[in-house]
Amino acid sequence: MSKIQMKTPLVEMDGDEMTRILWAEIKEQLLEPFVDLKTEYYDLGLKHRDETNDQVTVDSAKATLKYGVAVKCATITPNAQRVEEYNLKEMWKSPNGTIRAILDGTVFRAPIQVNGVHPTVRTWKKPITIARHAYGDVYKNTEIRVPGAGKAELVFTGTDGKEIRQTIFEFKGPGVIQGLHNLDASITSFAHSCFQYALSVKQDLWFSTKDTISKTYDHRFKDIFAELYENQYKEAFEKAGITYFYTLIDDAVARVVRSEGGFIWACKNYDGDVMSDMIATAFGSLAMMTSVLVSPNGQFEYEAAHGTVTRHYYRYLKGEETSTNPVATIFAWSGALRKRGELDNLPELQAFADRLENATLDTINSGIMTKDLALLYEGEAQAVNSKQFLAAIRERLVQN
Ligand code: NAP
Ligand code: MG
Repeated sequence: MSKIQMKTPLVEMDGDEMTRILWAEIKEQLLEPFVDLKTEYYDLGLKHRDETNDQVTVDSAKATLKYGVAVKCATITPNAQRVEEYNLKEMWKSPNGTIRAILDGTVFRAPIQVNGVHPTVRTWKKPITIARHAYGDVYKNTEIRVPGAGKAELVFTGTDGKEIRQTIFEFKGPGVIQGLHNLDASITSFAHSCFQYALSVKQDLWFSTKDTISKTYDHRFKDIFAELYENQYKEAFEKAGITYFYTLIDDAVARVVRSEGGFIWACKNYDGDVMSDMIATAFGSLAMMTSVLVSPNGQFEYEAAHGTVTRHYYRYLKGEETSTNPVATIFAWSGALRKRGELDNLPELQAFADRLENATLDTINSGIMTKDLALLYEGEAQAVNSKQFLAAIRERLVQN
C-alpha cells in the first residue's frame, strides 16, 4: 500500500501527560501507516517550554502564521503546584493564551456526536458550535468596592486632553462598581473569524448580545458584525446557501434549545464561557469536544477541548492501563489533515481524514469505546482501554 503524500507540513505542537502518550500512539497506529506524514515538530511539553523559556510556544505560533494549519496536543497551564512538580524557572503563561494572542484568533468548539449517546436536549440532531470572543469585558475589568456614600463617575480622557464624563451613580451607602472595555479591532477580528469559519464549514451563523439594555456597548458588537456582513460577506453567504442571524441573547437561548442544531453560535466572552459548558455537557462529554482556533487571516489550529487528563496519567505512571478517550485528539488530527488537503488541493488527504473519522465513529457505533463513553451509552457497550480502542479503529481503517 502506498502512503498518501502531503505537500506542506502541518505545524505539530506536542503536549503533556496522558494526551502526550495518546498523541504518540495515534501517530504510530492511525496516521504514519497511511500518510507520509509531514510535520514541523514543536515540543510544547512543559519541560521543554521551561528549557526554552517558553520560546518554543512563540515559535510554534509563528510557524502557524507561516504554514496556516497546526494541530495541538493538550498542554499543562502551570500553577504553583506545577512549578514545584516540574521545578520550573517561572510560572509560564497558558500556551493557548500565548498562541491565541499571536494568531489573534477565535476558538470554535463543537461536539462529536455518536449513535447511542443522546443529547440531553432531545430536539438536537446536529452539533452546535460555540464561538467565544476571547478578549475583554468582565475578563479585563476594574472593580471598586464602594465603602459608603459618594459619587461614581465614568471618565475618559483623550490623548488630546479632552474629557468625556458621565455619572454612574450617586451612592447613599456602600456598594460595588465595575469598569469594562472592549476594542473595535478585537470585535472586528472576532467577526471576521466567525464569518470565515461559517463559510468554511457551510453552516449558519448566529450572534447574540444584549443590545436592548446595553445600547452603546453591546450595540457596538451588533453594528460591527452587521457592517462586515453587509460589506464583505453577504454575497459569499448567499452563494454558500447559509445565513447570518442576529438576535438577543435571551431569545437565542430559547431558540437554541428548540433547534435541531447544526449552526454556529457566536457569543461575547462571558456568554461563550457559560454557554460552551452548557452545550458540552448537554451533548454528552468533554472528551468528545473538538476545538479549533481560527485567525481573522485564515490560519487554523486544531485541538481537543479537554486537558491533559492528569488523573489518568498518574495511574499510567504506576503501570496501569487507562481507558482515556482519544476521540477529540484524533479529530484534531483529522481536522488539520483535511484543512491541509483542502488548501493544498489533495483530495486523497481529505478523503483520509473522512476515513479516519468514520473508522472512529464506526468503532463506537459497533459498541467498542472507552469507559467514559460506555457510561453514557444506551445499548450494549464494551469498555476497553485506550490501546485496544486505537487498535479497533486501526482494524477498521485498514479494511476501508
Ligand atoms: P482534564 O484534563 O480535561 O480532565 C478532567 C477530567 O475529565 C478527567 O480527570 C477525566 O475524568 C475527564 N476527562 C477529560 N478528558 C478525558 C478523556 N479524553 N478521556 C476520559 N476522561 C476524560 O482537565 P483537568 O484535570 O482540569 O486539567 C488537567 C491539565 O490539563 C491541567 O494542567 C490544565 O492546565 C490542562 N488543560 C489544558 C487544556 C488545553 O491544553 N487545551 C485545556 C484544559 C486543561 P475522570 O478522572 O473522572 O475519568
Ligand atoms: Mg468556563
